[in-house]
Amino acid sequence: MTNTCIAFEEAHAAMNSVRQKTASLRLPICVAVFVAVICIGILGLSSWRAWVSRSSDLKTAEIEMSNLARSLTQHAEDTFDLLDASIIGVATRLELEGTGPAAMASLQKVLKARQSALKRIHGLFIYDENGLCLATSGLAGPDISDREYFRYHMQSASRDALIGNPVQRRPGGGWITTVSRRFNHSDGSFGGLVLATVGSEYFSEFYKEFDIGEKGAIILLNNAGIILARSKDNNIYAGRDMSDTPLMRNRSSPPSNGVYYFKSPLDGVTRLSFYRKSDRFPINVLATRAEDEVLATWRQNAITRMIFVVALTLLIAVIGFFLVRQLVRGQRLVSALAAQEADFRLLAENSSDMVTRIGMDERIQYVSPSSIRVVGWSPEQLIGTPALAGVNAEDLPAVQATVAALKRGEERDARIVYRSRHRKKTEVWIESTMRVTRELGTDKINGVVAISRDMTEHKDLEQKLASLATLDGLTGIANRRHFDEHLEREWARARRDGTALSLLLIDVDHFKKYNDRYGHQAGDACLKSVAQVLAAQARRPADFAARYGGEEFVLLLPDTDRAGCELIATRIRDCLADLGIDHELSLPSQKVTVSIGGAIAAFQDSKASSSSLVEAADRALYVAKDEGRDRLVMSGRVLTLSNGRIAVV
Ligand code: GH3
Ligand code: MG
Ligand code: MG
Repeated sequence: MTNTCIAFEEAHAAMNSVRQKTASLRLPICVAVFVAVICIGILGLSSWRAWVSRSSDLKTAEIEMSNLARSLTQHAEDTFDLLDASIIGVATRLELEGTGPAAMASLQKVLKARQSALKRIHGLFIYDENGLCLATSGLAGPDISDREYFRYHMQSASRDALIGNPVQRRPGGGWITTVSRRFNHSDGSFGGLVLATVGSEYFSEFYKEFDIGEKGAIILLNNAGIILARSKDNNIYAGRDMSDTPLMRNRSSPPSNGVYYFKSPLDGVTRLSFYRKSDRFPINVLATRAEDEVLATWRQNAITRMIFVVALTLLIAVIGFFLVRQLVRGQRLVSALAAQEADFRLLAENSSDMVTRIGMDERIQYVSPSSIRVVGWSPEQLIGTPALAGVNAEDLPAVQATVAALKRGEERDARIVYRSRHRKKTEVWIESTMRVTRELGTDKINGVVAISRDMTEHKDLEQKLASLATLDGLTGIANRRHFDEHLEREWARARRDGTALSLLLIDVDHFKKYNDRYGHQAGDACLKSVAQVLAAQARRPADFAARYGGEEFVLLLPDTDRAGCELIATRIRDCLADLGIDHELSLPSQKVTVSIGGAIAAFQDSKASSSSLVEAADRALYVAKDEGRDRLVMSGRVLTLSNGRIAVV
């Protein structure tokens, strides 16, 4: 059963410990998660903002490209319109006037006049049904019978304008694009064609005027995917077939316009482009900007912002880390303190000593249950009351001084014994061991802890021991040791005050014989009687009777002169005579008598010590014995001894 209880208690304690540890870690974990969420939130928000800003920049660029493509499509349409307008009238006149010399001469002038008026027209030509040049605005054109557009017009009855594929004027030379129309003879057969050309450079130069960045490009291409003109490196790219690019591949339903991102097969640059297909001519304009150029400003800003955000996040993370670490330490400290507090309470509440915690205001903050046993009051009655309230008025100054010294930090601990009120008994002696307590961290004194125990029994015993040490066991009056101490004090006082100090040394006469005759116990009783007589004669508070040793006694009489000594000696002898203790062997009285030697302190001799007074009394006692006993002899007297000699005692 006991084992089960112990096991249960251990398991309970272990569970409590785990619970405490878990609870102590909950707050730091919450803070760590909170800091992590803030960091992730800041990073996420910044990334999202950067992404939104990137999309916005791209959108703006798309709109720019869209507007540009629309304008340039319009421009290209206008150009081809112009070219077509230049040849349509000529074709009509040829059908009406024929291709005779007069008509040609007249049309030659028209062609020249038109070309000089319209700078964008590169050349105007009239070709016969064999592909030979009949008239031109400039130099005579070559034989074009093998050209694709010539064969087209020859075979097709359509009178519509045809925009042909770009043609290189000569190997390594510039490129031109043709706009041609068929004219018929009067019999309706193929009569030839009128041709207008526009130089690829015209478009290229015009496109260069737009700021579309270093890697941006504007491309004019026909529906077959052949480049007619390009803003940059026109000579290299003009005439190239782009039909294999993803944009042109799906020719069955090419988008009429739209945003188009692609990696250029020409230079490998990823481009943002807007593609626009003309409604009126088989041409398309592709306005492109390099994506990295469009995003350059955004990237710069984003990098700067992200550096700042990452630095800020790192700072928050570092602060969070230290905060969490500090919290963990704090929580551990709190747990340790709680455990200490629990231990302290366990010890205090199971101790037979009274444990008190006193605040800086000297009021009781805590007192253990043993207060009922020590001072009679329960902790509930004592907590909040002044700690020194019950201290005896005589001891209070010393206790107050001790507590004050502790509070000031002059003493770390102290031990003090004092009397204190008890609820049931009148007063108890308390011994308190006190120690200051300090605030954690600041080390500032915040109170005093006292461990107090009831010392009353101990004190009584101490007093008994003290009296035993000073009293004579047989007679109950002071012993020799006590007398010596007392004499020393009285000697010093009398010398200081200039007062008299007398001593009577009393010896029982023939006491050995008394013992021999009446027995040792009777001897003891006799000594007690003599002691009582002496004690009765020590009437004034300062008078002091003691057993000096064996059957010798002393009576110290402060402030007493010779006459006083003689008076008291007489009384002693009279009292003893009144007692009438038989002593057959003490002649002549056959009663117990005493011989007394008296002496008065002589302070004239500054070197004299207290022992000189005893010696003087002893000498006087010796003389008293010598003179026949049962008498007083005062020191300093001139005596004629029994043998006839004269002696100064
Ligand atoms: P004197 O008149 O010259 O003083 O002679 P005396 O016999 O009194 O002196 P002495 O010094 O020869 O003897 C002292 C005796 O006192 C010896 C001793 O047995 C006795 N005595 C000393 N102390 C005690 C005591 O405590 N009890 C008893 N019964 N006798 C004691
Ligand atoms: Mg003696
Ligand atoms: Mg004697």
